[in-house]
Amino acid sequence: MSDVDFQPVSGFDLPRFAGIPTFMRLPHVGVDDPRLGDVQIGLVGVPWDSGTTNRPGPRHGPRQLRDLSTMIRAQNGITGMRPFEAARCADLGDVPPNPADLMDSMDRITAFYRKLVAAGVIPLTAGGDHLSTLPILRAVAGKAPVGMIHFDSHTDLFNGYFGGTKYTHGTPFRRAVEEGLLDPKRVCMVGIRGTTYDDEDRDFADSVGIRVIPIDEFHARGVEDVMREACDIAGDGDTYVSYDIDFVDPAFAPGTGTPEIGGPNSYQAIQVVQHLQEVRIVGADVVEVSPPFDPSGNTAFLGASIMFELLCKIVEAGPK
Ligand code: MN
Ligand code: MN
Repeated sequence: MSDVDFQPVSGFDLPRFAGIPTFMRLPHVGVDDPRLGDVQIGLVGVPWDSGTTNRPGPRHGPRQLRDLSTMIRAQNGITGMRPFEAARCADLGDVPPNPADLMDSMDRITAFYRKLVAAGVIPLTAGGDHLSTLPILRAVAGKAPVGMIHFDSHTDLFNGYFGGTKYTHGTPFRRAVEEGLLDPKRVCMVGIRGTTYDDEDRDFADSVGIRVIPIDEFHARGVEDVMREACDIAGDGDTYVSYDIDFVDPAFAPGTGTPEIGGPNSYQAIQVVQHLQEVRIVGADVVEVSPPFDPSGNTAFLGASIMFELLCKIVEAGPK
């Protein structure tokens, strides 16, 4: 075992506003550091938004999420879990994207995550726009398709953009199904809403058996009932959890590029994660936090808080 302590810096030893900000004040372990093998859960930044079709900015997400994640303390206020004592967690730094080349960036992201998978590290990612999830899945679901629980205003199941463009933040899960990375019958999308161009994405979901729970159904049934179904659909196989911050109502999360009205509040945003029961999480992300649209940092604080809840759920499921 390495000499890394794997404990966050306590606010009693160094005030939370001081020091170099890593995710949740955890130690930084480089992806090529031999100590990577001791890490069970790796927090990673993907500062990349080349898949964004409308308002850009999530390339700045990881830095603001790291800053606001210094607000996170050691213990979960609801469950009492102390995740950093139960599992060895570290900040693995940022994937270095190529901001001028989308395809090269995706290859770089996949190569980075393959190192984590090879070392047995479960990745918890701070995006980045939602296209980031596709190259992550190429690494995480490299051997067999995984299930997915997906929180979002949008299905991200579209075929293309402006004619033939196949890779945008509106298409990652269409590509992931085509590439055999997702088992569509074990995929559940929660919170879908907003005006649309057409039904193309929903028709595709129906054709491959993806369950879409639109926002009116979410509000009518409530968190517990909806999440019970989502967890049943994911089943007991390997499952990825992808959380687009635009799932949350823009009153609580204005810092995002494609907001949609009528969403969950910040309490429900946390609750849905707390209701992930008996899901074998092989990776998770929080994407689409766009600091230029919320310089207050409130959206990033919510994003960091969701990351903490996801971390607790990965620990609960028992990392390798
Ligand atoms: Mn999305
Ligand atoms: Mn979205």
